[in-house]
Amino acid sequence: MICARTIFRCFRWLERMGDRVTGAAGPFFVGLAVILISLGTVCFFDVIQPTLRFPWLTTPPCILIVCNLFMHYYYVCTIPPGFIQDGPREAKGGILWAGEKPNSSEQRRGVRWSGEDGLGSGIKISKANLTMCKKCGQTRPERSHHCRICKRCVLKYDHHCPGVNQCVGLHNERHFVMFMAYLVISTFCYSVLGYQKMLGALGLTFMFDWPYLVPSLAYILIYMLSVVLCLAVGIMLSWHLLGVAAAETSVESQDHDVYRKIAKSRNDTFVNSYDLGKRKNLELFFNIGPTGYPWYTLILPLRIMPYTDGRSWARREGFERHRGVREGEELTDEDDDEHAP
Ligand SMILES: [Zn+2]
Ligand SMILES: [Zn+2]
Repeated sequence: MICARTIFRCFRWLERMGDRVTGAAGPFFVGLAVILISLGTVCFFDVIQPTLRFPWLTTPPCILIVCNLFMHYYYVCTIPPGFIQDGPREAKGGILWAGEKPNSSEQRRGVRWSGEDGLGSGIKISKANLTMCKKCGQTRPERSHHCRICKRCVLKYDHHCPGVNQCVGLHNERHFVMFMAYLVISTFCYSVLGYQKMLGALGLTFMFDWPYLVPSLAYILIYMLSVVLCLAVGIMLSWHLLGVAAAETSVESQDHDVYRKIAKSRNDTFVNSYDLGKRKNLELFFNIGPTGYPWYTLILPLRIMPYTDGRSWARREGFERHRGVREGEELTDEDDDEHAP
């Protein structure tokens, strides 16, 4: 027993060290990401873009993809994920914010705050249950979790991402997914359209010189990185989109696996009360569709508010809470500590 406890303490220490390293490495990762994305952009417009046919047709989409890539990364790094102490936020005007939907006196901007009955179209919104965080001693709405690195509770916590040097939560999760999507699109374009020039840079084609601004070595490195990132981020993006379509955050998808087993052991079926069906889940996450912002906000690098302030959630009709998991059985952030031998 003593031995088990020592091993557990050892793991705890390693975990805390890991958290510290992750927190400290954040700014380094962000700096590196900005340098690499900028270098990739220069390589593309210096080497690949001039080779494209119909430049009047192909240049605008290229510029749009680059703008989305930079802006969504800027948003995900700078918009706070939504800490439980923060007051409700309001959408602001200005060039970076998505505008109101035309003819939408009723539907306004797709933003519906706590306290309102629903989103229209028959969607039921109900107040979140409150629990106490044992780590920071604050009352928090359901779907919030405590971040060990930020040392605060985050609304609709997904994970702490060292690549953006902060948590991904309610207010920046959309930009996180959009950034990943545009990263996959841009690295895919780079990998496919830059293939011939890559052979030239490697000296495998009949090319006497390298008449470009960027050194061939930089082009080769960015090309290899693009291929790797396209595959790796493509897999991450697919996994995230599957979670979004199932109305689960990364934390919840792990918790729900446990709940499914608990329910199964009682011959019951677990039902996620936030799951309104794939299409509606995706619409609510991206806040588009009949009750949200216009669809073109997916292709313009605009800021958007989530459909809720994190203190109320859209739920399936007839479900005030998940089915298959009883009160008191829900997993909490403190479970790791409580399970100490
Ligand atoms: Zn907390
Ligand atoms: Zn965090």
